[in-house]
Order: sequence, then C-alpha cells, then structure tokens
Amino acid sequence: MTSPSARQILHDVFGYAAFRGEQQAIVEHVVAGGDALVLMPTGGGKSLCYQIPALLRPGVGIVVSPLIALMQDQVEALLLLGIKAAFLNSSITSEAARVVQNRLLRGELDLLYVAPERLLMPSFLALLEQMHGNTLSPSLNPSPDGRGKLCPSPSGGELARVQREGGNLGIALFAIDEAHCVSQWGHDFRPEYRALTVLHERFPNVPRIALTATADTPTRGEIVERLALEQARQFVSSFDRVNIRYRVTQKNNARQQLQSFLDSEHANDAGIVYCLSRKKVEETAAWLKDKGWDALPYHAGLDASTRSKNQSRFLREEGVVMVATVAFGMGIDKPNVRFVAHLDLPKSMEGYYQETGRAGRDGLPANAWLAYGLGDVVSMRQMIDNGEAPEERKRLERQKLDALLGYCESTTCRHQTVLRYFGEEHPGNCGACDNCLEPVDTWDATQAAQMALSCVYRTGQRFGAGHLSDVLIGKATERVEKFNHHTLSTFGIGKELNTTQWSSVYRQLVASGILEADSEAYGGLKLSAAARPILRGEQSVWLRRDADPAIHKAKRKAERTERTAKAREPFAGANDDPLWLALKAKRLALAREQGVPPYVIFHDSTLLEILNQRPATLDQMAQVSGVGQAKLARYADEFLNVLQEFVT
Ligand code: ADP
Ligand code: ZN
Repeated sequence: MTSPSARQILHDVFGYAAFRGEQQAIVEHVVAGGDALVLMPTGGGKSLCYQIPALLRPGVGIVVSPLIALMQDQVEALLLLGIKAAFLNSSITSEAARVVQNRLLRGELDLLYVAPERLLMPSFLALLEQMHGNTLSPSLNPSPDGRGKLCPSPSGGELARVQREGGNLGIALFAIDEAHCVSQWGHDFRPEYRALTVLHERFPNVPRIALTATADTPTRGEIVERLALEQARQFVSSFDRVNIRYRVTQKNNARQQLQSFLDSEHANDAGIVYCLSRKKVEETAAWLKDKGWDALPYHAGLDASTRSKNQSRFLREEGVVMVATVAFGMGIDKPNVRFVAHLDLPKSMEGYYQETGRAGRDGLPANAWLAYGLGDVVSMRQMIDNGEAPEERKRLERQKLDALLGYCESTTCRHQTVLRYFGEEHPGNCGACDNCLEPVDTWDATQAAQMALSCVYRTGQRFGAGHLSDVLIGKATERVEKFNHHTLSTFGIGKELNTTQWSSVYRQLVASGILEADSEAYGGLKLSAAARPILRGEQSVWLRRDADPAIHKAKRKAERTERTAKAREPFAGANDDPLWLALKAKRLALAREQGVPPYVIFHDSTLLEILNQRPATLDQMAQVSGVGQAKLARYADEFLNVLQEFVT
C-alpha cells in the first residue's frame, strides 16, 4: 500500500486542486518534524497547514484554540470531510469529555481541538504524555517521507485507514492557533497562552506550528519569545487582501449612507456592521430591522444565551447582518461575509485590518466600508484623553489613532496604505479601493486653513466646527450674537466655502493634528504647535476635496448599472438565477437537516463553480474545487439532481 502524498490528501480529502502560496512549503516543513510560525492573512488558508500534516504524520494533531464557540463548527466541517476530529472544552459535559479522552487514548482521532485551559490541566498533560510516551519507539517516530494514515482505497472512493497496531497513537503535532493571544498588547490577550511553553518542554520531539493573522512585528517577536519558537522557521505571507475593496466615506447621515450602501450592493448578503457602543449597536440593529434587514445585535452586555443564539443565526443562516461591537468576530470563520461596515472609527490600523479582514475569507469579492466624520475624530481623541490608562499607554493609543486617521484622509491607494503600515510594499493602483477607482482631487487650502485657524484663535479656542463655520460664513446665529462673534474680524471672511466644505477643512485639520480637540471643553477646538507655521504663512496646506454626496450618489448608481452588466463580478446575475437559488436552497436544506452552517456543506465558491460548470456526472462533479471524496459520496447526487431538473 502506498502512502498518500500531501497533494493527494489536498485533492482527495479537501477537494482542492493546488496548494496556495506558502501552504506546500509549510506542510512539508511540519511533516518533516520542523517547528513553524505562520503569518498569513485571514482567509489565506492557515488551517490546511496543520490539518494535512496531522493526517500525514502518525498520531493525533492537537489544535489549541481560544475559540470555544467555534470548535463545534470546525469539528463538524472536518467530520464531513471524513476526518476523525473531536473537541474538548468547557462547553461539553464531563461524560462527553470522557468519551473523547477514551477515543484519544485508543488512537481513534486524527485531530483534537482543545481550549488552552483544558490542555494545561495537569491531568490532561499527563494523559497526553502517557499516550505519546507509549509510542516513542523508533519505528513510530515522525517520518519525513510522510508515512501516512490515510490513503485512497483501491476502489478509489472511500478513504481507508492504514491499520497499524495500536491505532493512531502518539502526537503528530501541536498547532497553536490565534497565536497572537500571547500578546498582552492586543485585545485578544489570553494569559493561559503564555503557559504553552510547557508543550515544548514536555514534548520536545513533537513539532509545533503557531499561526496568526496579526501582522505587526512587535506581536511576531512576542509570539516567538513567549512560545519559545526561536528555532521555528517563519513563513510570512503577503498580507494583501486583494479581494477586499476598501472604501472610506465622509459622514453626513451615516445611517442613510449605510442603508444606500446595503441597498445597492448587498441586498441579500451576510455582513457585519461595527459600532463603538452597545447602545449604538442596539439602536442600529433595531433601525435596520425596521427597514427590512435581517439584522441582529451583538455586544458583551447581552446575556450569553442571546449572544450565542445571534452568533449561531449569523453562521447558520444566509443573509444575516450582525450589528456588533468589537466583542464580535475573533475567529468568526464564516467564509461568505460579503461586507464589513464601520459606523464608528476603529481604534487603530490593526483593529481596522482585523475587523475588515473578516470579509471575504472565501476569496470572492467583498467590501470594507467605513463612514467617518469630524465628530468621530473628536470623540476618539476625547476618549483617549479622558481614559484611565497611564500616560505612556495614552501616547501609544494616540499614535495608533493618528495612523488610522492618516489612512482615512489619504488620497492614495488604500491597499498600499494598509500594507505600508504593516511594513509591506505594494505598488499601488490596486483597482480595488475608492481612491484608485475614483481618484481624489486635492486643493491648495493654505488660505482656507489660515482662516479656519485664526477663527479658532479669535473665538477663544473653545468652540466646535459648527459654530466656527457659522462665524466664517457670516451667519449671525443666536449663539454667534450671544458671544459677540459677529463683531470679530473673521466674521464672514469665508463665504467662498459652504458649511460642508468648512466642516471638511476642520475635520482634516483635526485629523492631521494641526487642531486639537479640547477634552475639557466639550469638543471645542484649539491650536496645536503645528498651527503656528501655517498661520505665519511658512507652510502650505493641501487637503482632499471630499466627494459631493449628491454627485457621488448619481455616480454610484451609474456604476451599479454598469457592474451588473459585467460578468467579472462573480455574483453578477447569479443572485436571481433560478438555478443558483435552487442550488442554495438545496444546500440550506441539507445544512438544516444536519445541523451545520450551509458553508460547511459547500462554500459559495464551490456552489458557483457548480453553477458555471454544470457537471453532469460524478467524475465531473469531482473536478469541482471544494468537492473531496467524502463530499462527493455524500452530496454529489443531491446536487446533480438539482442540475438535472434545469436541463432543458
Ligand atoms: P484562515 O484560517 O487562514 O483564515 P482558512 O484555513 O479558514 O483560512 O481558509 C480559508 C478558505 O480558503 C477556506 O474556505 C479554505 O477551505 C480555503 N482554502 C484553503 N486552502 C485552499 C486551497 N489550497 N485551495 C482552495 N481553497 C483553499
Ligand atoms: Zn488602491
């Protein structure tokens, strides 16, 4: 009997034709017994990097994951692929845990997902040691040639297990997923992750593979240090999410803007809308629901059962919009999240990249949409200033916010700006961001900036942009008269711009740090040191010309019409194609029957390929990406029948 190669497993078990990017190199390295640190963006395909080696090496692959809520879905997906997987965490009864442990001891598992606190229990470590120690005879040591457990049976269909004495004993590898949880700087910090060095100490001959989608260098350093991965080979992929279209919209009426974004581009899609506060989450979810969207709220203030019910609906049903705080999302591996919208600013570029990264894990086009305005800048700055954090931490938070604001105001390629922040080069001109698709005009705003700044100065550095604009335009409002601002020299000197334009000037001056939001005086603006050279005429100021909302709307409409006509968009036309709807309905029915999310049956990309290829036989069906042997045996007939009905 020949041993299967990694390629064969990729094809037969997972149904994929080729490895992506670094996957093959990583798989080979780990199969040969090497440690690895894998940095790959969300959707890059990290799971295969440990799943395939776990199938090729003798013993069970132990996967450490903090995402208890998702383990069940992950395991169910593996079971449908014909992989013997199980999980252990606090969500299951001790009776169920005993059953899993017995299967582990009998060598009946290929992959075991465990929560870190469970793995670290002395009794569990002792159990692993006992099981692993029993196998440490030379013949069962990791074999670089990929001596495997799975191989296609001669009949070519079912997977047959290599019968070895004692079953699948020993530990094939440790995979440490979401490895950035060791970092105390990120908001996903898990103290137990730091104790995972025990794996290295007690199982020195078992390869470890740590994986994360967090890209920044300090976090990487911390992972290496905290997990004792100095000897591990590092595999760093490009962090460019080419299928995500980034867009930043200037706020005027954020809810309306959100609604028209959803209406025009995501009528039936699942997506996430992030808000800063719990209250806003509730209100926005209720509002969207009222407008006919299947919207649900999610934040840490909801009770556990509501949260898990909402999350499960988001995962298991199609087209649910989750309105959430950042409490939602880590490890949400729903592949067909088609958009991530921000109604408030994230705290940093890291946060923005991570949150938007939850869109389009399946590689199909997805949107990252952010609405942003002066009010956001002011309130974020105040939140930092008035927070409890020590001064050093606040300085760091301010820097991170500034980087994000720089991104929002940038007039160059968004993909380039995002990647540059993470230290990666990108040639720009991505063709998939607002700035590349609709280049932004800039204008010499030196004189306007001088007017805006001197108006701040003359009014005593304690008023907000609305009032300052009134003074500049020469509107004698009640408030203007109350403070005698109609008698100032700056009153009415800025009639050439309207309120929206002045607000844009003020927003950009605050975003670039030339003006500061006074944390005591309720959003009042004051001059920073950077204002001086501008007022003195020593420095010029160039600002972006914000798109006129009315023109913008018309343009979008035209664009939409054009887009629907273009076949390039994978979903264009598909959305109302009766065959597409029938395929989706079949998938949903199967998913309900089996109590799993629809994407666990087939991904959208697989379903789309079925739609486009129209396979007529089992052999043709087996050619579709995402259809492995187990799924072929289980589902092919069902979908072939649906296709049959549409043959005319
Ligand atoms: P990550 O954990 O890096 O976010 P996943 O492991 O969940 O990503 O993979 C993302 C998606 O890409 C999954 O749907 C997975 O099945 C798919 N995928 C991974 N590797 C390949 C491949 N070589 N060919 C086709 N699809 C792949
Ligand atoms: Zn671009």
